[in-house]
Amino acid sequence: MAVVSTLLSKVRALAGHLRRGPTAVIGLMPDGPKEFNTAEKDVTTPTPRLEVRNLMRHFDGRLAVDDVSLRVMPGQVTCLLGPSGCGKTTTLRIIAGVDQQDSGEVLVDGALISDESTFMPPEARSIGLMFQDFALFPHLSVAENVAFGLTGPKPEQQKRVADLLKRVDMAAAVDAYPHELSGGEQQRVALARAIAPRPRIMLMDEPFSGLDERLKDDIRDTTLSVLKDEGTAVLLVTHEPDEAMRMADEIALMRDGRIVQVGAPYNIYNVPNDLKVAAFFSDINVISGIVNGSLVDTAFGGFLAPGHPDKARIDIVIRPQHLRIDFDRDGKGPNPTEQDGTPARGVVERARFVGRESLIEFRMDYDGSLLKATVPSVFLPDPGTPLWLMIRRERCFVFKSND
Ligand code: ATP
Repeated sequence: MAVVSTLLSKVRALAGHLRRGPTAVIGLMPDGPKEFNTAEKDVTTPTPRLEVRNLMRHFDGRLAVDDVSLRVMPGQVTCLLGPSGCGKTTTLRIIAGVDQQDSGEVLVDGALISDESTFMPPEARSIGLMFQDFALFPHLSVAENVAFGLTGPKPEQQKRVADLLKRVDMAAAVDAYPHELSGGEQQRVALARAIAPRPRIMLMDEPFSGLDERLKDDIRDTTLSVLKDEGTAVLLVTHEPDEAMRMADEIALMRDGRIVQVGAPYNIYNVPNDLKVAAFFSDINVISGIVNGSLVDTAFGGFLAPGHPDKARIDIVIRPQHLRIDFDRDGKGPNPTEQDGTPARGVVERARFVGRESLIEFRMDYDGSLLKATVPSVFLPDPGTPLWLMIRRERCFVFKSND
């Protein structure tokens, strides 16, 4: 009887397990069923390859790096993006170990490599570096340059060098010397050299800024695919939003020593935290107004400002490509739509063709303000031409004004 009841209790426990789903595991132990909750194990966040926690660095009493934290996973490219002097290079130098923070921690694969009292020397960090000024060794051939940091049996070194040179499309130049190569070719060799010892992390500081535009795209793509294949975590410093948008899985935008927003390129571009973040990625138009009963009066009609109190001054931000242009029909514009609201008339002040698109500046009848619109073709109306503008409301950002 006792055997039957033990069996029954095991069956009940098993039924309970099935109802609860697969995260609980039943152990049929000699002393009866035990439940091990493995839920914690299943959802464990993987350890970042590189983690920086609350980094601070002062120079002469001025904060250059102010509470910077970030995480980069293996095979992930994070771009540290920001204007000149915002603290990008200092952050990179601290991670590389050529400068030391006042406080904060740097971890590689979960292990502490530097804080106020710990300092692992740069050469022990398994971190590769690639800078604009990459300087290959002039007296060494391409193959010798790439093999420079390698250890271990010679045949393995040679295989690694040959594989990498093939990967960066430089196999034919194996015996050449740096002065015989173009800037772009030297950059490819520098990439192979940096990646050869299989660093766990690659730090890159404006690595493509010395190259001409035509070469850049090509080398960026090669670099990305090599680093992804190797599973290297990449932290790339740049002040060019286009480069960050093209290269990054994640962008960390810096301003005055702080990271002000982190996100995938699409998200940071389309959901900026504030006006300055929006302005960093493209030209913007700013339409300012005062909230009156949850609406703001603009040339384009009433504008909802949810979450902003009455009498608050707000900025409606819209990128030039999200303005629609329509023709003037004897003083009349297109009909209002739910999506675009009321059209507003402006007079062309200036129109220029700027590469793939035309940029038209308008002086608005409503308040004399200047708005910019772009169209993806050649459209160059004469100054003084009256035209109508509509704004795509779903593409507008509404921020509290800092004025
Ligand atoms: P850039 O894109 O121009 O290289 P950055 O964003 O990389 O700029 P950092 O080079 O990190 O900026 O500099 C951040 C601030 O710290 C700047 O104001 C800079 O002048 C200052 N700074 C950096 N290094 C030192 C130093 N060794 N001594 C004094 N001030 C420094």
